[in-house]
Amino acid sequence: MDIYLSALRAIKMLFSDIGKNEAAAVIGGCIAEYEKNDRSNPLKRELSHGGRLYELTIGKEDVPEADKRLWTIETFQALVAICAQTAESAANGFETDIQFLRNNFGRINDIMMIGRCRRCGRREATAADIDKYLSKPIISKRIVDGLENGDLDDEVGRLIHMDLPELDRERRRLRRKLTNSEIPINDGYGILAVCNGCASEDIEQSRLLRHTTENRFVPLNN
Ligand SMILES: [Zn+2]
Repeated sequence: MDIYLSALRAIKMLFSDIGKNEAAAVIGGCIAEYEKNDRSNPLKRELSHGGRLYELTIGKEDVPEADKRLWTIETFQALVAICAQTAESAANGFETDIQFLRNNFGRINDIMMIGRCRRCGRREATAADIDKYLSKPIISKRIVDGLENGDLDDEVGRLIHMDLPELDRERRRLRRKLTNSEIPINDGYGILAVCNGCASEDIEQSRLLRHTTENRFVPLNN
């Protein structure tokens, strides 16, 4: 099984699914180049300065729903990371296999990012912060499963349409952990823009560190 090629095909499917046909055609070109035995990572070339996907964005016009947009962008980035990892390994003379990806790719993140008011110090997590944190392990697991089972396109389809039975459970778990950490949660699906304590709009992104033994986070100072 060729991980690079499977990931490229899944990226093409993702672009077709959201109606970005020009980008899908560019990926089709990458697939053709790669199949002609060009192992130098044609995807990276198209995403780099001067490449045809250099200014690529997945915006509101492509995926109007904010939640699906987040999952689509995170899935796309994970597939790109797989291509980069596979190509870099190949250039260094070793082959990336499923076990390597399972062990090294997108494990649960120790850091969660949320908004913090610069004026009064109040922290607050949004529904989008929650999904962004959860998306990494969920996406990685489904992509690696899809590669292993030969149905990566189906898994990517489920990810970008949020057809994810595990998501509700994981969201509830994370909400509990935030509550244990005394972090209030709001259901806005974007980054925090206005402090709900003092109404200041001076909000910065700040980090929460996952506690290694207790079911909570430790807020960091920046
Ligand atoms: Zn405030």
